[in-house]
Amino acid sequence: MPRDQPAHDPAPARVATPAAKLSGPAKAMHKLGLKRDIDLALHLPMRYVDETRIAPIGGVRDGLSAQVQGRVLESRIEARGRRQLVVRLADDSGELVLRFLNFYPAQQKALAAGQLVRARGEVRAGFFGREMVHPECRAVTPDTPLPRALTPVYPSSAQLPQTYLRKAVASGLARAPLHELLPAGVVPAGLPPLREALRLLHQPGADQAVEALEDHSHPAWQRLKFEELLAQQISQLQAQAERATLAAPSLQPARDGLAVKLLAALPFRLTGAQQRVVAEIEADIARPIPMHRLLQGDVGSGKTVVAALAAAVAMDAGWQCALMAPTEILAEQHFRKLIQWLQPLGVTVAWLTGSRKGRARTAMVDQVASGEAMLVVGTHAVIQGDVAFARLGLAIVDEQHRFGVAQRLALRQKLEAQRPEPGGPALEPHLLMMSATPIPRTLAMSYYADLAVSTIDELPPGRTPIVTKLFADGKRLGVIDRIRDEVQRGRQVYWVCPLIEESEHLDLQNATATHAELSAALPGVGVGLLHGRMASAEKAAVMALFTAGEMKLLVATTVIEVGVDVPNASLMVIEHAERFGLAQLHQLRGRVGRGEVASVCVLLYATPLSPTGKARLQAMAETNDGFEIARRDLEIRGPGEFMGARQSGDALLRFADLTEDSGLLQQARAAAPMLMQQHPQAAAAHAARWLASRADFLKA
Ligand code: ADP
Ligand code: MG
Repeated sequence: MPRDQPAHDPAPARVATPAAKLSGPAKAMHKLGLKRDIDLALHLPMRYVDETRIAPIGGVRDGLSAQVQGRVLESRIEARGRRQLVVRLADDSGELVLRFLNFYPAQQKALAAGQLVRARGEVRAGFFGREMVHPECRAVTPDTPLPRALTPVYPSSAQLPQTYLRKAVASGLARAPLHELLPAGVVPAGLPPLREALRLLHQPGADQAVEALEDHSHPAWQRLKFEELLAQQISQLQAQAERATLAAPSLQPARDGLAVKLLAALPFRLTGAQQRVVAEIEADIARPIPMHRLLQGDVGSGKTVVAALAAAVAMDAGWQCALMAPTEILAEQHFRKLIQWLQPLGVTVAWLTGSRKGRARTAMVDQVASGEAMLVVGTHAVIQGDVAFARLGLAIVDEQHRFGVAQRLALRQKLEAQRPEPGGPALEPHLLMMSATPIPRTLAMSYYADLAVSTIDELPPGRTPIVTKLFADGKRLGVIDRIRDEVQRGRQVYWVCPLIEESEHLDLQNATATHAELSAALPGVGVGLLHGRMASAEKAAVMALFTAGEMKLLVATTVIEVGVDVPNASLMVIEHAERFGLAQLHQLRGRVGRGEVASVCVLLYATPLSPTGKARLQAMAETNDGFEIARRDLEIRGPGEFMGARQSGDALLRFADLTEDSGLLQQARAAAPMLMQQHPQAAAAHAARWLASRADFLKA
C-alpha cells in the first residue's frame, strides 16, 4: 500500500491542542493553519477521484485511471535491479499486475495470495503485462461498501497523509458551527445553504459535474464566494460606520493663514486637477470625523504640493502633521521641498528617520512630544514606539502601497484617539494616503467601500512628454554615446541596473560593474553609484551631489524608484527592462520629464524577447499614461500581480476572485447595506464568522 494508506488510520486528534504537544500529521495540520473545526470545514479539495465504481479488470483501457477489485493470485518480491513487490490480481474478466518499488513488510502481508484487494491507479502496458505502478489499494472483504461520494484530494504537505486529512476534515465539517445566518432573499437565487454547499464540496455525489467543482463555477462554490464577498463588504461598511462615530479635529484654513501664504509663494499655479483635490481634502478635514482618503495621481502629477497645502491647513488650525515616505531618499526629498516652501513662512519642519539615532533623535522626539515640531517628515520611524505626538491632526502617507501591512497596522494604532486637552474629547487624526500606482476605478469603488478616492488626472503644463525607445542590448554602445551628448548639453542622466531576483549580492555586483564600465567609457563625466546596501548618509551624499548637478550620471539600482525629483535629468536608461513590472517601469520613467526639456527613456532588453515581453515593453513605448498602463498590465497579467497582493487586498480573499466574480461582487455590494439595516445581528454574526482573525488587516 502506498504510504498515505496506512493499514490502521490513527484517529485525527481533536484540533485545539497547542502546537508544541502535537506530533506528526497533527503538527503538519497545525502548520497548514487547520486548527479549528471551521478551518477544516473551509479547507476545500483541489480535485476529486471517483472511487464509487469498480471496473472489470479486463475492460480498463491502457492509459486510463480506474478502480478495480480482485483476488491476489500471487505476491512475490523480485530483485530485478531494485527490490520490488509484484502482485498479480485477477477478477472474472482478466488479470493485472500491481507493482511497488517502495513497500513495507506490512503491505506485503496485506497483499498476500488469496486476499481480496481494491486498487485504484492508471493502467498501462508494462514489463509484466498490464500493470498499475504504486496504486492506492487496500485489502477488503466482499461486503466492504463502496463510497457513495467522490473522494476529495486536499492541498496537503508531505507529513500529512490524505486519508488522515480526509477524516479530520470530515469530523471538522460535522462539528463546525455552520448554521445558516443569512435570512431568505439575501443569498442569490439557486445557491445552496452554507452547510449543504460545504458538504457537497467535500463529499460530492458521484453524479456531480467534477469540472464545475474543480473550476469553481459550481453553485456550491458560488455560495462560498458570495459569503466571503458579503463579509468583506459588511466589514468595510462597519469600518465606515465606526469611523463616523469617531471624532476628529475640524481643520479649517485660517484667513491669511499658512495655506493661503504658501499658495501665493509657489512658483507655479495649481492645475485644475490639483485645485479640485485640494478642495476635496479641505472639505474632508474640516469635518469633525476622521478622513480616510486616497490621493492617486500619475507620476509627476504634483501630489507633494497637495500634501503640503493639507499640512498647512492642519498647522493653521493649530495641529501637528506627519508626512511619511517609504524610503529615506524619498523622505529626505520631501523634507527639502517642504523646508523650501514652508521655512520662509516660519514653519519648523522636523526630520525623523531610522538612521537618525542618539541625541539628535531624542531631541527631535521631545520636540514632537511637546508640540513644538508642527510638521514631522520621515520614514516609518515617525510611527515607531517612542514617538508620541502632542496633537497630531493629520497623517499623510506617501506611496502608501510600499508600506508593509505591519507598518500600516502600526500607523493605525498610532492614530488611535488622543486627548489633547485633559478631560476633553478623544480625537483621531485625519489620514491621507498618496499613491502613483492607480487602482482601477471600478475596483477602488467596489472593493474599498471605506475609502474615499481623489484623483489628479492632469499633469502640470509645459511638460514635454517623455519619448520611450526600445533597444536590444546589442545597441548599448550607441546608448552610451547618447549619454555623452546629453551631458554635454548640460543635462543629467539615470542608468538603472536590472533586478536580480535571486540575489541581492549579484544585484550589487552588477551595479558596481556597470558603474566601472560607464566611468571608463565616459571620462570626465561625474559618474555616481547608488544602491540599497549603502548607509543612508552615503546615499544622501550621492543624492545631494546629483541634485546639485555636480554629478552628471547616476548609476542606481531600483532604490531610486519612488518619487525622486531632479528636474534637470532628461535621460533614463533602464537595463534589462524586460525583468521589471510595467508599474515599476512607469515609476522609474517618471524620474525624467520633470522639467521643461524633452526627455527620453531608453529601455534596453535582452534578446530573444518573448511575445508577452515584447507586448509589455511596447505598451510602455506607446503611452505615458499610468492609468492606461495599469489597464494593459491588468490585461496581460491579472490584478493580483499588478498591484501586489497587499495593495489589492486580494490576499484577504480566499475563495472569490475580483475579476472573475464581479457579478457576485455586485450582488454582495447590493446585499450588504440591506442586510445591515434589516438584520443587523445577522450581518454582524456573518462578518465575524468570516473575518474574525482578519479584521485588523482589512482596516489597515
Ligand atoms: P508626484 O505626484 O509624482 O509626487 P511631485 O509632487 O514630485 O509629483 O511633482 C513633480 C514636480 O512638479 C515637482 O517638481 C513639483 O514642484 C512640480 N509641480 C507640482 N505642481 C505643479 C504645477 N501645478 N505646475 C508646475 N509644476 C508643478
Ligand atoms: Mg511623489
